[in-house]
Amino acid sequence: MVNEMKAFQLAARGNKTEDTIIQVTGPAGPVFIGEGYCTIIAGPCAVENRDDYLHLAQFLASSGAHLLRGGLFKPRTSPYSFRGLGKEGLDILKEARLATGLPVITEVMDIRDLDYLVGEVDILQVGSRNMQNYALLDELGKLDTPVLLKRGFSATIEEWLLAAEYILAQGNGQVILCERGIRTFEPYTRNTVDIGAVALVKKLSHLPVMVDPSHATGKWDMVIPVAKAAIAAGADGVMVEVHQDPDHALSDGKQSLNKDNFLIMVNQIHRLADMEKKKLNTR
Ligand code: PEP
Ligand code: MN
Repeated sequence: MVNEMKAFQLAARGNKTEDTIIQVTGPAGPVFIGEGYCTIIAGPCAVENRDDYLHLAQFLASSGAHLLRGGLFKPRTSPYSFRGLGKEGLDILKEARLATGLPVITEVMDIRDLDYLVGEVDILQVGSRNMQNYALLDELGKLDTPVLLKRGFSATIEEWLLAAEYILAQGNGQVILCERGIRTFEPYTRNTVDIGAVALVKKLSHLPVMVDPSHATGKWDMVIPVAKAAIAAGADGVMVEVHQDPDHALSDGKQSLNKDNFLIMVNQIHRLADMEKKKLNTR
């Protein structure tokens, strides 16, 4: 039995009476993430080029996305795979933010990139592979930018909450937890999505919990059912990969929804959010 007060103090429910609700403000206004809201983050795995990203971003903004995702630094298993546009891609992300009015999220892998990312993106993402990069977590804790902390694919729930604790302990209380599947003995899917973790962490912690059904499954045709399961289990929203032409995506095409399927997912999430009495952001 985990002693929650001892193990992760600041993240624990016992430490705070209210649920943490995080507000991020894009050019078109605020978006809320946390208890009572249902937030949809969508975008391609990686920003690939300006035109495609801007077109897709416009589509997503007018189709129910509340925040845009787009990786600039991709932690790829092989160093020879597409690793993202890096710093050069930031201008594209900024342009899409202005054009759509939506806040943006991107992954940071290296403390040195914080210099120019801070103040330009609305949420900084810590990827699964960096969940226990404690030097990075310490630095993020000194900022006042919200952090979306993905669960490490081999991390226990306690290790995940203790990683959040690193950020909280430095003074940054704006942490969003994101379940993205864990590695198990099952090879059929990319990861095994831990839906139970969502219900459990919502109980243990006051922090918002989201689910990434794209990385959790690795298969686009499992994304909608798992997104629905996430909301039903109490998640505060989902983060999904969408690509205008998944067959030709430079990364993670197999798990990316196309535009039509994104629309179907949004429709179904709206119905579930309504059932769960969760507010959708106004955009
Ligand atoms: C991502 O969201 O782009 C990503 C790399 O996910 P994860 O860290 O969960 O593998
Ligand atoms: Mn991806």
